Amino acid sequence: MQTRHFEFWPKLSKSITFPETPLIDNLTVSAARYPDHEAIYYYGQIITYRQLMDEVTSLAGYLQQNLGVANGEKVLLFMQNSPQFVIGYYAILRAGAVVVPINPMLKTNELEFYVKDCGIENGMIGQELVEQVQPLIDITSLQNLVIASYSDYKGDEFDEMLPAEVAAPRASFEHPGFFSWEDAVQTGAKPGEQTSNADDLAVLPYTSGTTGLPKGCMHTNRTVQANTVGAYHWSRSTTHSKSLMTLPLFHVTGMVHSMHMPIFSGSTMVIMTRWNRETARKLIREQQCTHWVTISTMLIDFLANPDVKAEDLTSLLGISGGGAAFPKAVGERLYQLTGLEFAEGYGLSETIAQTHFNPPERPKMQCLGIPSFDVDSRIIDPVTNDEVGTDEIGEIVVNGPQVMVGYYNREDENESSFIEIEGKSFFRTGDIGRVDEEGYFFIVDRVKRMINASGYNVWPTEVESHLYDHQAVKQACVVGIPDPRKGENIKAFVILNEEFEGEITEEEMIEWSKQHMAAYKYPRVVEFKKEFPTTNSGKILWRKLQEEEKEKVEGA
Ligand code: AMP
Repeated sequence: MQTRHFEFWPKLSKSITFPETPLIDNLTVSAARYPDHEAIYYYGQIITYRQLMDEVTSLAGYLQQNLGVANGEKVLLFMQNSPQFVIGYYAILRAGAVVVPINPMLKTNELEFYVKDCGIENGMIGQELVEQVQPLIDITSLQNLVIASYSDYKGDEFDEMLPAEVAAPRASFEHPGFFSWEDAVQTGAKPGEQTSNADDLAVLPYTSGTTGLPKGCMHTNRTVQANTVGAYHWSRSTTHSKSLMTLPLFHVTGMVHSMHMPIFSGSTMVIMTRWNRETARKLIREQQCTHWVTISTMLIDFLANPDVKAEDLTSLLGISGGGAAFPKAVGERLYQLTGLEFAEGYGLSETIAQTHFNPPERPKMQCLGIPSFDVDSRIIDPVTNDEVGTDEIGEIVVNGPQVMVGYYNREDENESSFIEIEGKSFFRTGDIGRVDEEGYFFIVDRVKRMINASGYNVWPTEVESHLYDHQAVKQACVVGIPDPRKGENIKAFVILNEEFEGEITEEEMIEWSKQHMAAYKYPRVVEFKKEFPTTNSGKILWRKLQEEEKEKVEGA
């Protein structure tokens, strides 16, 4: 099957030119062209492109000279959405190092895995996370941390609506490996010459891919540029655009659409540290936001706000998102209110966000869209690897300029994650879908064992491995159960060690999980069982348990 050409989409071509330059050049160019233009708006405070470039440069110099950050070194970025995340990210790039963005919701034991996996020595963190990170200094390679206080960058217009971590004043910490953000950006240190090129590693976002244990996706400047520029064409952003940033920046969709894309177009990032529907309404209205990339759970919450009126949203030119299925009713409500159709997209960490998107002129509902610029996507039979026909179900595979170079230090998985078709290498997404006669793709299931709860990907194998740390747990099996609000919720089936039977309740197990796992990840429902259905070889039939749960909900 050949990639289809879309005549009905005349304003954009199927192919675009991708820059050969590193990501840091996008900022350098925007700062040179629009030095006084607003780069960031943060709860009432404006940061111009000139200031952004100056702080990035100074911090890069500090990283190199004071912390000894070397070319190609992996540097931790463990922060909430904030100006410092953006400055820190680009400073790491300017220093010629590689950004390792990690979900700030993770607990110490969870973070330890990532630090060890790629041997991190230096990092930048939010001050609210110091307690979580400090213990790792003694037991991992981690040595130095630059600590940021978000309140240093906020304005004073949103005081009653500020999240606690933004309102908190700067704290001081005593530790030989701790450095204050203020000192770091104010030294005015000059970094060495900028030498990164398109094929140098830029960022290592972690995902659990198809098998369940987290691994870093190696993205170069080239792969990230492909989707940055793709998003720019897709969204038709200009320097006058304002993007409301509500998705977390450590994840690829927020990273590309709410940070790299606005910096590429020299436009404004309106940053929210935490989701709050009333703050979002106020920001869209007062800042006249033009673009908003979000997920369905946020949009559902946003539209449920009785104060949201059509006149609040007149500045918006596009609302888009992906990462999880988008309910039809929400799309219809949005259309009634704004006349805008939600533009759903699809992609993965391995493809640094979108590989498919709905053309703005002709989107389809509950659809992944058509392949993005220069992407060739096919549907194959996951067992025989043969391509299947129109509307037949199979695994979605993708070839394109945004596909990662490979997983970091995972040779075996690199081999099994790619397949060759007609001499080209395609990434196996682990998603089961179909393509219609017009070339639009739809997702129907997943080969991979993954739960999508409120847009967060939860990997059952990882949750189970945490549950095994509890002395009462003999066997655990974690599945996704349907949830009207979150899409899916997390349920753990547990077989207890005999001596604990009757000694612990399901509620206690949930409470324990809450203390040992990130909030988006711990099981909300626990059911004790005497045995699990298994295959002849003893493997737990998780899919059977999951199907039974689905039937229970649907039958109710
Ligand atoms: P991540 O690597 O965290 O970005 O997660 C990628 C996974 O999210 C995909 O493999 C899909 O299972 C899921 N996903 C992404 N976009 C969509 C979408 N539009 N609809 C349903 N699931 C999606």
